Amino acid sequence: MSKDKSAKIPTPQAVRGTQDMLGDFADRFAHVVDTFERVRRLYGYKRIEVPVIEPTAVFARSLGETTDVVSKEMYSFDDRGGESITLRPEFTAGIARAYITNGWQQYAPLKVATHGPLFRYERPQKGRYRQFHQLDAEVLGSDSPLADAELLVFADQLLKELGIAEGVTLTLNTLGDAASRDAWRAALVEHFEAHRGDLSEDSLARLDKNPLRILDSKDPKDRLIADSAPDIDAFLTGEAQDFFGAVTSGLDAAGVAWERNARLVRGLDYYRHTAFEFVTDRLGAQGTVLGGGRYDGLIEALGGPPTAAVGWAAGIERLAMLLADEVIDNRLDAVIAVEDDGQLAAAMKAVSALRNNGFATEIVASGSPRKRFDKAAKIPAHALISIGMRDGAAHINVRGESDRAKAVETCLQSSPRT
Ligand code: ATP
Ligand code: MG
Repeated sequence: MSKDKSAKIPTPQAVRGTQDMLGDFADRFAHVVDTFERVRRLYGYKRIEVPVIEPTAVFARSLGETTDVVSKEMYSFDDRGGESITLRPEFTAGIARAYITNGWQQYAPLKVATHGPLFRYERPQKGRYRQFHQLDAEVLGSDSPLADAELLVFADQLLKELGIAEGVTLTLNTLGDAASRDAWRAALVEHFEAHRGDLSEDSLARLDKNPLRILDSKDPKDRLIADSAPDIDAFLTGEAQDFFGAVTSGLDAAGVAWERNARLVRGLDYYRHTAFEFVTDRLGAQGTVLGGGRYDGLIEALGGPPTAAVGWAAGIERLAMLLADEVIDNRLDAVIAVEDDGQLAAAMKAVSALRNNGFATEIVASGSPRKRFDKAAKIPAHALISIGMRDGAAHINVRGESDRAKAVETCLQSSPRT
């Protein structure tokens, strides 16, 4: 411990890549979460909670040692008992672990949704933080393409209800079944080997361990080589084609627009069939707002029974940044200015009556009585109520033209006065 009493607690900026939220951004954040909670119920997704900390092996084994997240981004440390634990960098692995340890196979197919903080040691920038938050939806124990389609329709409705679907595109790919994927992988390795000399250093490392990942490299050096690589289409088995066809016809039937992106991959071996991202050009380099896919091999890789599953995650901060200004309505229903301390009891009665009847209400009863009305008038609200003495009697005056203001007035008239 430092003896220097003047040593300051580090400012939030010193904890790089984390943020404090108040006011507008906190409201936007809450609006995203509220909308998600409403829409996930419409699709029958159950609420699930999983821990922030997990044994490091849960992520190391499921995400794969060669991914950016595991090799560079995890917050892992030995706890006081000497066990290596990790602050979750994503939800899927923890939910898969929970499915196994709790025997939730009995509920399959299990549709679950959650949201909360995640941790990745990244280079902080706009839309990229070290503590960030995600919405997450998963279907465990279903190998039906209808599950993929429904999950995507859910995502699409969420973005529409948030009012940000415009300018956001669903891009979709298939990674086929195990046989398709292995054949494609071999063809990719052959293609990249032929261009070994021109690949970036990162991609050279990927070539040995995770060649699919070269396809979505952002390095300009890799781009030409990645763009001329073979698509999976020539390698898809009949079954894999049927699966992809069922997903896309489900989307078409539901009226969800999509685009094929044959370069879209999820690098890990347990990913199968559907891979997708909702992308926008409105957030600069951080253009993916929601991403996911089918991960039929993951639960088995974690030591559970073979279990087909599909899911997505979306960055709450990125969604919150895309919201239009007018979506956030902070207005209270009513604000009450108590201009005479003698009327405090009457004002308290009125504020209780309003709140008990579902009207969001604030009361201004401190500071100089003459200034309270002006203070109250500055708080955004449908109705501005003043309670004071007029001609020796209590006087309640309600100002406001909206329907909500009228409802406030009716509520006050029908509740008993002192
Ligand atoms: P990116 O390519 O932007 O690094 P990713 O592939 O690492 O994204 P996923 O692991 O698929 O992202 O996470 C899903 C979503 O979570 C992303 O689309 C994004 O909206 C959000 N997200 C991921 N990392 C961060 C971060 N560090 N800060 C804020 N949001 C993030
Ligand atoms: Mg990332």
